[in-house]
Amino acid sequence: MQVLAQKIILITGASRGIGAAIARQLAAAGASVIINYAGRQAEADQTVQTIRAAGGEALAVRADVSQPAQVARLFEESLAHYGHLDGLVNNAGIMLTKPVQATTDEDFTRQFDVNVRGTFNTLREAATRMADGGSIVNFSSSVVRVALPTYGTYVATKAAVEQLTRVFAKEVGARGINVNCVAPGPTNTELFTQGKPAEAIARAAAFSAFNRLGEPDDIAHLVSFLLTDAAKWVNGQIIGANGGMA
Ligand code: NDP
Repeated sequence: MQVLAQKIILITGASRGIGAAIARQLAAAGASVIINYAGRQAEADQTVQTIRAAGGEALAVRADVSQPAQVARLFEESLAHYGHLDGLVNNAGIMLTKPVQATTDEDFTRQFDVNVRGTFNTLREAATRMADGGSIVNFSSSVVRVALPTYGTYVATKAAVEQLTRVFAKEVGARGINVNCVAPGPTNTELFTQGKPAEAIARAAAFSAFNRLGEPDDIAHLVSFLLTDAAKWVNGQIIGANGGMA
């Protein structure tokens, strides 16, 4: 049975990494997916091709989530193409790790613009443009709970996303929309592995009880469930997907 048949779901940052795995899983479960991306068109097109080759339906739309006008256009194009919107996954994010004293104004602004303003921008559109009974999944990180050095600005953005999740769930609940937040542990994507020595990756893998990094599909399984009707009573929650890290 295709549990997401007839559903139209927008995933931000779905050209690669966790977002691409989410898009593939949702499409395999019967949803039509909108693959948002910031700049890497070739990777977005590849994700669309992979989904279509497997018999699924997907559309790539470029938009920088930190820009309100681009997010408004993203919703307009999605609705013009598919007619309605049942799901939103706020997966797009960036991670800049530096001690507070080395973090520049530009680092701080960029991090908040993409992770917090980006999530805010799509939620504001979804408040009026998503169908009644829809589902939203935001993205935090398990590092919010363990508060490691150099992650200060990043965890500040993700803590803000967690609070937006709790409040927005209460604002749109009357329309039957549930809103949750997934908090992955270290996951095997460019965001986490780029520039890290093998020892640092091994230390991060040891945070999980299984002594490995998460894979994008590990996170996508949870997101996929949260978008089904079976998850409707799960609402306003922050849910870890981290192999037992925290
Ligand atoms: P990746 O770096 O692998 O992929 C990031 C995706 O976000 C890409 O599709 C990229 O598009 C897109 N993106 C970046 N900036 C923007 C923007 N301004 N507007 C639109 N899209 C944008 O990241 P991950 O898959 O690892 O991360 C996904 C989410 O999971 C993030 O929110 C991250 O914070 C969170 N997370 C990740 C963890 C990890 O260890 N990987 C752990 C905990 C949380 P493009 O390809 O065009 O650049």
